[in-house]
Amino acid sequence: MSRGIVRVVMLVIAALAVWVAARQVTSFGRSSADIAADSLRALDARTRRDTLHDGETLDILLRRGGLDGAAARQVLAATPMIDPRRVRPGMAVEFISDSAGSPATEIVFKLAIDRHVRVTRSDSVAWSAREVELPWTVDTIIVRGAVANNLYDALHGAADELFPGASHNGLVFAIADVYKFRVDMSRELRKGDSVHAVIERARGPESSTRVSQVLATRLFVGNRPIEAFYFEAPSSSNVFYDGSGKSLATAFLRSPVEFARVTSSFGMRFHPILRIRRAHEGVDYGAAQGTPVMSIGDGTVVRAGDAGGYGNVVEVRHPNGYVSRYAHLSRFSAKGQRGNRVNQGDVIGYVGRTGLSTAAHLHFEILVGGNQTSPTVALRNVDGTPLPSAAKPAFDRVRSTLLAFLGRPPGVVRAD
Ligand SMILES: [Zn+2]
Repeated sequence: MSRGIVRVVMLVIAALAVWVAARQVTSFGRSSADIAADSLRALDARTRRDTLHDGETLDILLRRGGLDGAAARQVLAATPMIDPRRVRPGMAVEFISDSAGSPATEIVFKLAIDRHVRVTRSDSVAWSAREVELPWTVDTIIVRGAVANNLYDALHGAADELFPGASHNGLVFAIADVYKFRVDMSRELRKGDSVHAVIERARGPESSTRVSQVLATRLFVGNRPIEAFYFEAPSSSNVFYDGSGKSLATAFLRSPVEFARVTSSFGMRFHPILRIRRAHEGVDYGAAQGTPVMSIGDGTVVRAGDAGGYGNVVEVRHPNGYVSRYAHLSRFSAKGQRGNRVNQGDVIGYVGRTGLSTAAHLHFEILVGGNQTSPTVALRNVDGTPLPSAAKPAFDRVRSTLLAFLGRPPGVVRAD
C-alpha cells in the first residue's frame, strides 16, 4: 500500500475508535451517557434541597430535613468546622437518603461555592464530617473592547463568553479598580476609547467564573494610552505600574464614590432648584442615598457640618494644600468629623440630598489655593512614585512578557 492509503486507513480506524468511545456502547446497547443520566435522576429522587432561611438556626434547618432532635445534635457535634455564627442565610444544603422517602444518611452544607462540608451517617447512629474544597482552575484571558458609552459596554462582548453571568461586572470593576487613581471611569470615557487587558481567570465549581488577577491593561482615553502592569515589588503595597515603572497609585483617588456604585453621571448643567447655570467647577455623581463617600486622599477634616445650599458638607485638607469638598451628604461617618485625620479611601460620609438638591447625589469639588478647580484638571498631573532602581530589571522582564500578551488576539491564551 502506498503511504497515502496507509494514512487514510489509519485515519478511518482512528475515527471509528473515536466514534465507539463516544458511544461507549455497553453489552445492553445503552451508552454510558444514558446510564449516567439515569443515575443522576435516581440521585435527584434521593436528594432534597433546602436553604438556610433568614434568622434560622442550623438545628431548625436539620429538623426540616427530617432529622429528629438527637440526630440534629449529633450532626452539629460532628461539624465543628461550621461556625453557626458565620453561616449565612441562603446557604444551600442537600439531604441525601439511601432511597427516595427514607431519612437522610448524608448531608451536604454548601458553605461557599468552593467549600462544602459533607456529613455522612456511618452506621445507625454515628455521623462523621469531612470538609471538601472544590478546585478552581486558573487560566489567562485576553480581552479587548471598544467604548460606546462606558466600561460596561466596552467589555460586554468579551464578557459574554469568557466572563459569563455575574463575572462580567466583576471584570469591569477589577479593571476600573486598576485605574482608580488615574481615570474617573464614570465620567471620562468617551466613544472611541478602548481597553485591552490580560486577565488571570479562575473557574470553579458550578461554572463559577471570577477575575483572579488583572495582569496588564492598556486603556486609551482620548487617544492617550494608560498602561498598567501587575508587579510585586519588595516592601511596596502598590501592585500596578505604568510602562516607565511609576506606580499607578497616587496621593488622590479620581472619584470619591466607588465606580460600581455610581448610577449615572449626573451632568447637571442647570441647577434644578435655582434654575440658573451654576458657576461651580464641581462634579456630580448620581448614587443611591446612603452610598459611602470616601476621602480621595490622606488629610485632616477641616469642616463637617451644615452649609446652606451644600447641605451637609465635609472638607478635607490634604498635605499638598488641596481641599476636597463633599456636599449634600445624608450624614457623616465617625471619621468624617472636624479635626479628624483621615486616610485615602476612608469613608467620611454618605450620599444624600441635603441642601439645594432634588435627588440623591454627591457634589464634589477641589479647592486649590481656595479657588474651585475642576477635579479633572486638579488631579490630572498627580503622579505616582517610581520603582526603586534595584527592582527595575525584574519589572522590565515582567513588562515585556505582559506586553507580548497584550498584543495577542482576544480569547484564552494557549501555550505555544
Ligand atoms: Zn454639583
